[in-house]
Amino acid sequence: MSERVPITVAYGDGIGPEIMEATLRILDSANAKIQPEVIEIGEKVYERGVSAGIEEGSWESLRRTKVFLKAPITTPQGGGFKSLNVTVRKTLGLFANVRPCTSYSPFVATRHPGMDVVIVRENEEDLYAGIEHRQTDEVYQCIKIVSQPGSEKIIRYAFEYAKQNGRKKVSCFTKDNIMKLTDGLFHRLFDEIGAEYPNIEKDHWIIDIGAARLADTPNIFDVIVTLNLYGDIISDIAAQITGSVGLGGSANIGGACAMFEAIHGSAPPLAGKNVANPSGLLLGAVMMLVHIGQPEEAEAVHNAWLKTLEDGVHTQDIFNQGVSSKLVGTKEFADAVIARLGQRPTTLKPVDYDKSSRSSLTLPPLKQRPRAVKDTVGIDVFLHWAGVCADDIADKIKGSAGEDFDLIMITNRGVKVWPGGVPETGCADHWRCRFMAKGGKTDHARIVGLLGRIDEAGIDFIKTEHLCTFDGQPGYSLGQGQ
Ligand code: NAD
Repeated sequence: MSERVPITVAYGDGIGPEIMEATLRILDSANAKIQPEVIEIGEKVYERGVSAGIEEGSWESLRRTKVFLKAPITTPQGGGFKSLNVTVRKTLGLFANVRPCTSYSPFVATRHPGMDVVIVRENEEDLYAGIEHRQTDEVYQCIKIVSQPGSEKIIRYAFEYAKQNGRKKVSCFTKDNIMKLTDGLFHRLFDEIGAEYPNIEKDHWIIDIGAARLADTPNIFDVIVTLNLYGDIISDIAAQITGSVGLGGSANIGGACAMFEAIHGSAPPLAGKNVANPSGLLLGAVMMLVHIGQPEEAEAVHNAWLKTLEDGVHTQDIFNQGVSSKLVGTKEFADAVIARLGQRPTTLKPVDYDKSSRSSLTLPPLKQRPRAVKDTVGIDVFLHWAGVCADDIADKIKGSAGEDFDLIMITNRGVKVWPGGVPETGCADHWRCRFMAKGGKTDHARIVGLLGRIDEAGIDFIKTEHLCTFDGQPGYSLGQGQ
């Protein structure tokens, strides 16, 4: 027997221990060559005052095994606690969240029989970078970070995943009609990288109509790649419309490490009752077996599980009079899957994993891109100002422009209010004054001089953004109405 692969396992909270026990028993019966190492996470760790929900010592196991099979945890209510999932994802660089959403009609009720969509969600950046500030009495901001390497990695991953899994199409969801720089970058890289995969069909959807079509006509999609926030939302919608979020597993993949789990949480009301459905975690574990190069074992477990569903052996959450034949608990469901190892479903489509691939999906190195020529051409200065009239601010701040800058525009919440504002525009106490450099270029010293003059004029500035061009192209958006 070949060597067992060490994996880090956490039993989690609520129904976690029961569904993990069921999952590991099935893997063991399928002769999966794994060596679980148990770490403690979640409620008990939080209660010991560890705000991250994971002990320092547990990172050693995670960083050594590089594979984490995680049961759900209960997130404590109230402030001060950090999301364990976000911490693990970011610390281990798990940039891709992969969530297959499949319907199992007629055995699990759904309006979308035949649905088989994989959502590939960027996992580290976007609004989830967690950079938030309160800037004025009335205004709070959350910064949306979209990087070229981060976007390239997730888009490349989606195409490589499609190629490895025999998927025909990759769809990209963005909102680049509004966010032309951030979402525009993601769309542009999708087109650029997609061109390297001529055998895979590609299309792009604006997120709102894309999400609507996903909820209404999911069968037109195959693999969807998108940014973090959109992906978070649409992956729950997609899982729900298959018939049950309780059946979904997910993988969080990084360059070195990976984490596998169920989509659902710890369901505290069901804990200790032997009623929870272990399927979500089991399907996460199946993805793990593929990742560690055990596709035969993954296929055996997956097909035995499909056969169990097909035979109507169902836990309470998916039990359906007339369709289900036997109501079982967590343990008995695991027994039923084990009894069917070696069998394949006959009505549902059996899975066939690629046996030629013995290793997890590896990405080519990021593209080498030349550094652009960057010129600073102006600055946006944001003010905290309780007045209502943009002309008053313009009168007060114009003089600060001095000999180096021209004040060309003031916006409020992105809309131009000076010059030529209209009284109907609603304004908050947060104003952006755009200064462009006389002569086209400026530098830090002149910007510091400008800020000094604004300060001397008694104006409360609360942040600045440099306006730069990259190879002559503006790296900033226009004001709405400019
Ligand atoms: P939940 O997913 O735990 O449960 C919602 C409901 O769905 C349950 O009451 C139950 O009726 C059903 N359900 C969920 N999983 C099931 C299963 N395997 N079998 C049968 N029925 C199942 O969501 P929640 O109640 O909002 O959250 C409970 C706790 O889980 C919270 O503390 C939350 O923060 C945490 N949570 C953790 C994770 C994670 O660790 N990845 C994810 C989501 C929520």
